[in-house]
Amino acid sequence: MDRLPFALPDFLPGHVWLVGAGPGDPGLLSLLALHALRHADVIVYDALVDPRVLAMADAAAVHEFAGKRGGKPSPKQPDISNRLVALAKEGRRVLRLKGGDPFVFGRGAEEALTLARAAVPFRVVPGITSGIGGLAYAGIPATSRETNSAIAFVTGHDASGDVPDSVDWENLAKAVPVLVFYMALKHLDRIALRLIAAGRRPDEPAAVVSRASTPRQRVLVGTLGTIAECARRDAIEPPALVVVGEVVRLRRDLNWLAGS
Ligand code: SAH
Repeated sequence: MDRLPFALPDFLPGHVWLVGAGPGDPGLLSLLALHALRHADVIVYDALVDPRVLAMADAAAVHEFAGKRGGKPSPKQPDISNRLVALAKEGRRVLRLKGGDPFVFGRGAEEALTLARAAVPFRVVPGITSGIGGLAYAGIPATSRETNSAIAFVTGHDASGDVPDSVDWENLAKAVPVLVFYMALKHLDRIALRLIAAGRRPDEPAAVVSRASTPRQRVLVGTLGTIAECARRDAIEPPALVVVGEVVRLRRDLNWLAGS
Protein backbone atom coordinates (compact mmCIF):
# COMPACT_ATOMS: atom_id res chain seq x y z
CA MET A 1 0.00 0.00 0.00
CA ASP A 2 1.24 3.49 -0.79
CA ARG A 3 2.94 5.68 1.74
CA LEU A 4 1.97 4.01 4.99
CA PRO A 5 4.32 4.93 7.84
CA PHE A 6 4.29 1.32 9.06
CA ALA A 7 4.44 -2.15 7.53
CA LEU A 8 1.39 -4.34 7.12
CA PRO A 9 1.97 -8.07 7.68
CA ASP A 10 2.79 -10.20 4.64
CA PHE A 11 -0.06 -12.34 3.35
CA LEU A 12 1.86 -15.61 3.10
CA PRO A 13 1.03 -18.55 0.81
CA GLY A 14 -0.81 -21.29 2.68
CA HIS A 15 -2.38 -18.80 5.09
CA VAL A 16 -6.05 -17.90 5.50
CA TRP A 17 -7.15 -14.39 6.42
CA LEU A 18 -10.62 -14.24 7.89
CA VAL A 19 -11.66 -10.71 7.12
CA GLY A 20 -14.67 -8.55 7.89
CA ALA A 21 -15.74 -6.40 4.93
CA GLY A 22 -17.99 -4.08 6.95
CA PRO A 23 -21.65 -3.40 6.26
CA GLY A 24 -21.33 -2.32 2.62
CA ASP A 25 -19.67 1.03 1.95
CA PRO A 26 -16.17 0.10 0.69
CA GLY A 27 -14.80 3.16 2.45
CA LEU A 28 -15.39 1.33 5.72
CA LEU A 29 -12.82 -1.38 4.94
CA SER A 30 -9.78 -1.57 7.19
CA LEU A 31 -6.28 -1.17 5.80
CA LEU A 32 -5.65 -4.83 6.55
CA ALA A 33 -8.77 -5.80 4.62
CA LEU A 34 -7.65 -3.76 1.61
CA HIS A 35 -4.17 -5.26 1.86
CA ALA A 36 -5.69 -8.75 1.88
CA LEU A 37 -7.86 -7.93 -1.15
CA ARG A 38 -4.81 -6.79 -3.07
CA HIS A 39 -2.72 -9.85 -2.25
CA ALA A 40 -5.11 -12.81 -2.07
CA ASP A 41 -4.95 -15.61 -4.64
CA VAL A 42 -8.45 -16.83 -3.82
CA ILE A 43 -11.35 -14.92 -2.28
CA VAL A 44 -14.11 -16.98 -0.72
CA TYR A 45 -16.93 -14.53 -0.09
CA ASP A 46 -20.43 -14.43 1.33
CA ALA A 47 -23.63 -12.99 -0.11
CA LEU A 48 -23.42 -9.99 2.20
CA VAL A 49 -20.10 -8.78 0.80
CA ASP A 50 -20.70 -5.67 -1.29
CA PRO A 51 -19.71 -6.01 -4.98
CA ARG A 52 -17.82 -2.72 -4.71
CA VAL A 53 -15.58 -4.34 -2.11
CA LEU A 54 -14.86 -7.35 -4.33
CA ALA A 55 -14.06 -4.98 -7.19
CA MET A 56 -11.00 -3.84 -5.24
CA ALA A 57 -9.37 -7.26 -5.42
CA ASP A 58 -6.28 -7.94 -7.51
CA ALA A 59 -7.37 -8.73 -11.08
CA ALA A 60 -5.72 -12.17 -10.95
CA ALA A 61 -7.57 -13.31 -7.83
CA VAL A 62 -10.05 -16.15 -8.16
CA HIS A 63 -13.47 -15.39 -6.64
CA GLU A 64 -15.45 -18.21 -5.04
CA PHE A 65 -18.98 -17.53 -3.87
CA ALA A 66 -19.98 -19.29 -0.66
CA GLY A 67 -23.46 -18.02 0.08
CA LYS A 68 -27.09 -18.38 -0.88
CA ARG A 69 -28.03 -17.41 -4.40
CA GLY A 70 -31.29 -17.47 -6.35
CA GLY A 71 -33.15 -19.61 -3.83
CA LYS A 72 -30.61 -22.42 -4.12
CA PRO A 73 -29.53 -23.93 -0.80
CA SER A 74 -26.37 -22.42 0.57
CA PRO A 75 -23.25 -24.55 0.88
CA LYS A 76 -23.07 -26.37 4.21
CA GLN A 77 -20.85 -24.69 6.78
CA PRO A 78 -18.44 -27.65 7.13
CA ASP A 79 -18.00 -27.67 3.34
CA ILE A 80 -16.96 -24.02 3.39
CA SER A 81 -14.56 -24.55 6.28
CA ASN A 82 -13.05 -27.62 4.61
CA ARG A 83 -12.73 -25.72 1.36
CA LEU A 84 -10.66 -23.07 3.15
CA VAL A 85 -8.38 -25.79 4.55
CA ALA A 86 -7.98 -27.42 1.12
CA LEU A 87 -7.13 -24.11 -0.60
CA ALA A 88 -4.59 -23.24 2.08
CA LYS A 89 -2.99 -26.67 1.82
CA GLU A 90 -2.59 -26.04 -1.92
CA GLY A 91 -0.39 -23.14 -0.92
CA ARG A 92 -2.77 -20.33 -1.84
CA ARG A 93 -3.25 -17.06 -0.05
CA VAL A 94 -6.87 -17.48 0.97
CA LEU A 95 -9.04 -14.52 1.80
CA ARG A 96 -12.25 -15.49 3.56
CA LEU A 97 -14.35 -12.37 3.24
CA LYS A 98 -17.49 -11.89 5.29
CA GLY A 99 -19.98 -9.07 5.73
CA GLY A 100 -19.60 -6.91 8.83
CA ASP A 101 -17.34 -8.51 11.40
CA PRO A 102 -16.41 -12.17 10.93
CA PHE A 103 -16.97 -13.02 14.59
CA VAL A 104 -20.38 -11.36 14.96
CA PHE A 105 -23.18 -13.75 13.94
CA GLY A 106 -21.06 -14.69 10.95
CA ARG A 107 -19.95 -18.21 11.82
CA GLY A 108 -16.38 -17.02 11.61
CA ALA A 109 -15.59 -18.77 14.87
CA GLU A 110 -16.59 -22.11 13.37
CA GLU A 111 -14.36 -21.55 10.36
CA ALA A 112 -11.45 -20.39 12.51
CA LEU A 113 -11.80 -23.50 14.70
CA THR A 114 -11.64 -25.75 11.64
CA LEU A 115 -8.49 -23.94 10.48
CA ALA A 116 -6.93 -24.20 13.93
CA ARG A 117 -7.68 -27.93 14.15
CA ALA A 118 -6.21 -28.48 10.68
CA ALA A 119 -3.10 -26.52 11.72
CA VAL A 120 -3.67 -23.97 8.95
CA PRO A 121 -2.18 -20.61 9.95
CA PHE A 122 -4.76 -17.84 9.95
CA ARG A 123 -5.27 -14.20 10.87
CA VAL A 124 -8.54 -12.54 11.86
CA VAL A 125 -9.21 -9.03 10.58
CA PRO A 126 -12.20 -7.52 12.38
CA GLY A 127 -14.70 -5.54 10.35
CA ILE A 128 -17.23 -2.90 11.27
CA THR A 129 -20.25 -4.87 12.30
CA SER A 130 -23.54 -3.74 10.77
CA GLY A 131 -25.05 -3.32 14.23
CA ILE A 132 -22.64 -0.44 14.83
CA GLY A 133 -21.78 0.87 11.36
CA GLY A 134 -25.25 0.36 9.92
CA LEU A 135 -26.79 2.24 12.80
CA ALA A 136 -24.31 5.08 12.37
CA TYR A 137 -25.25 5.36 8.69
CA ALA A 138 -28.87 5.66 9.82
CA GLY A 139 -27.96 8.50 12.16
CA ILE A 140 -28.57 6.34 15.23
CA PRO A 141 -25.74 6.22 17.77
CA ALA A 142 -25.22 2.87 19.48
CA THR A 143 -24.97 4.62 22.82
CA SER A 144 -25.49 8.09 24.17
CA ARG A 145 -25.05 9.24 27.73
CA GLU A 146 -28.64 10.29 28.11
CA THR A 147 -30.17 7.06 26.90
CA ASN A 148 -28.12 3.94 27.55
CA SER A 149 -25.03 2.63 29.28
CA ALA A 150 -25.52 -0.81 27.80
CA ILE A 151 -26.39 -2.29 24.42
CA ALA A 152 -27.10 -5.85 23.31
CA PHE A 153 -26.67 -7.51 19.96
CA VAL A 154 -29.20 -10.24 19.50
CA THR A 155 -29.86 -12.67 16.67
CA GLY A 156 -33.46 -12.87 15.53
CA HIS A 157 -33.20 -16.53 14.66
CA ASP A 158 -31.17 -19.49 15.79
CA ALA A 159 -29.67 -22.42 13.89
CA SER A 160 -33.14 -23.97 13.47
CA GLY A 161 -34.44 -20.71 11.93
CA ASP A 162 -36.74 -19.98 14.86
CA VAL A 163 -36.67 -17.13 17.39
CA PRO A 164 -33.79 -18.20 19.64
CA ASP A 165 -34.80 -19.93 22.86
CA SER A 166 -31.33 -19.45 24.26
CA VAL A 167 -32.13 -15.75 24.71
CA ASP A 168 -33.51 -14.86 28.16
CA TRP A 169 -36.09 -12.43 26.79
CA GLU A 170 -37.38 -11.36 30.20
CA ASN A 171 -34.00 -10.32 31.52
CA LEU A 172 -32.80 -8.92 28.23
CA ALA A 173 -35.85 -6.68 28.02
CA LYS A 174 -35.38 -5.50 31.59
CA ALA A 175 -31.61 -5.06 31.65
CA VAL A 176 -30.62 -3.56 28.33
CA PRO A 177 -32.07 -0.24 27.13
CA VAL A 178 -30.90 -0.58 23.52
CA LEU A 179 -31.37 -3.82 21.63
CA VAL A 180 -29.98 -4.36 18.15
CA PHE A 181 -31.36 -7.35 16.31
CA TYR A 182 -29.66 -9.06 13.40
CA MET A 183 -31.63 -11.37 11.08
CA ALA A 184 -34.85 -10.26 12.71
CA LEU A 185 -37.18 -9.31 9.85
CA LYS A 186 -38.85 -12.69 9.55
CA HIS A 187 -39.80 -12.98 13.21
CA LEU A 188 -40.22 -9.29 13.96
CA ASP A 189 -43.85 -9.67 15.10
CA ARG A 190 -42.93 -12.33 17.61
CA ILE A 191 -39.82 -10.54 18.82
CA ALA A 192 -41.78 -7.33 19.45
CA LEU A 193 -44.53 -9.23 21.29
CA ARG A 194 -42.00 -10.98 23.49
CA LEU A 195 -40.33 -7.71 24.41
CA ILE A 196 -43.67 -6.08 25.19
CA ALA A 197 -44.73 -9.11 27.24
CA ALA A 198 -41.47 -8.71 29.16
CA GLY A 199 -42.32 -5.12 30.03
CA ARG A 200 -41.02 -2.93 27.18
CA ARG A 201 -43.39 -0.13 26.24
CA PRO A 202 -45.22 -0.56 22.94
CA ASP A 203 -44.60 3.14 22.24
CA GLU A 204 -40.83 2.80 22.67
CA PRO A 205 -39.01 4.02 19.53
CA ALA A 206 -37.81 1.36 17.12
CA ALA A 207 -36.21 1.45 13.68
CA VAL A 208 -35.47 -0.88 10.81
CA VAL A 209 -32.30 -0.21 8.84
CA SER A 210 -32.16 -2.06 5.56
CA ARG A 211 -29.07 -2.40 3.33
CA ALA A 212 -27.22 0.01 5.55
CA SER A 213 -24.33 1.96 4.03
CA THR A 214 -25.21 0.84 0.50
CA PRO A 215 -26.83 3.00 -2.19
CA ARG A 216 -30.12 1.26 -1.37
CA GLN A 217 -30.14 2.02 2.33
CA ARG A 218 -33.62 2.48 3.80
CA VAL A 219 -34.56 3.45 7.33
CA LEU A 220 -38.01 3.16 8.89
CA VAL A 221 -38.80 4.62 12.25
CA GLY A 222 -41.79 3.53 14.32
CA THR A 223 -42.47 2.09 17.72
CA LEU A 224 -42.01 -1.36 19.15
CA GLY A 225 -45.74 -1.86 18.76
CA THR A 226 -45.86 -0.80 15.09
CA ILE A 227 -42.46 -1.62 13.64
CA ALA A 228 -43.29 -5.10 12.32
CA GLU A 229 -46.36 -3.80 10.52
CA CYS A 230 -44.37 -0.82 9.15
CA ALA A 231 -41.67 -3.14 7.79
CA ARG A 232 -44.28 -5.29 6.09
CA ARG A 233 -46.18 -2.37 4.64
CA ASP A 234 -43.02 -0.82 3.22
CA ALA A 235 -41.81 -4.21 1.93
CA ILE A 236 -38.47 -3.77 3.67
CA GLU A 237 -35.92 -6.21 2.37
CA PRO A 238 -33.03 -7.99 4.04
CA PRO A 239 -30.34 -7.58 5.11
CA ALA A 240 -31.85 -5.42 7.80
CA LEU A 241 -31.26 -4.53 11.41
CA VAL A 242 -33.88 -3.71 13.98
CA VAL A 243 -33.02 -1.34 16.79
CA VAL A 244 -35.20 -0.77 19.81
CA GLY A 245 -34.56 2.00 22.32
CA GLU A 246 -34.52 5.71 22.99
CA VAL A 247 -31.38 6.22 20.87
CA VAL A 248 -33.63 5.94 17.82
CA ARG A 249 -35.05 9.40 18.61
CA LEU A 250 -31.65 10.96 17.99
CA ARG A 251 -31.94 10.19 14.29
CA ARG A 252 -34.23 13.18 13.96
CA ASP A 253 -31.22 15.45 14.45
CA LEU A 254 -28.38 13.13 13.43
CA ASN A 255 -29.52 11.80 10.07
CA TRP A 256 -26.42 12.97 8.22
CA LEU A 257 -26.94 10.74 5.19
CA ALA A 258 -29.56 12.61 3.24
CA GLY A 259 -32.23 10.64 1.45
CA SER A 260 -32.20 7.37 3.39
N1 SAH B 1 -21.15 -10.59 10.46
C1 SAH B 1 -22.21 -9.68 10.10
C2 SAH B 1 -23.58 -10.23 10.45
C3 SAH B 1 -23.95 -11.49 9.71
S1 SAH B 1 -25.57 -12.02 10.07
C4 SAH B 1 -21.95 -8.32 10.78
O1 SAH B 1 -21.08 -8.23 11.63
O2 SAH B 1 -22.64 -7.35 10.43
C5 SAH B 1 -26.51 -11.26 8.79
C6 SAH B 1 -27.33 -10.11 9.33
O3 SAH B 1 -26.51 -8.96 9.50
C7 SAH B 1 -28.43 -9.66 8.42
O4 SAH B 1 -29.58 -10.47 8.51
C8 SAH B 1 -28.69 -8.27 8.95
O5 SAH B 1 -29.44 -8.31 10.13
C9 SAH B 1 -27.29 -7.81 9.30
N2 SAH B 1 -26.65 -7.02 8.24
C10 SAH B 1 -25.49 -7.26 7.63
N3 SAH B 1 -25.19 -6.29 6.74
C11 SAH B 1 -26.19 -5.39 6.82
C12 SAH B 1 -26.48 -4.14 6.16
N4 SAH B 1 -25.65 -3.62 5.25
N5 SAH B 1 -27.62 -3.50 6.50
C13 SAH B 1 -28.46 -3.99 7.42
N6 SAH B 1 -28.25 -5.16 8.07
C14 SAH B 1 -27.14 -5.85 7.78
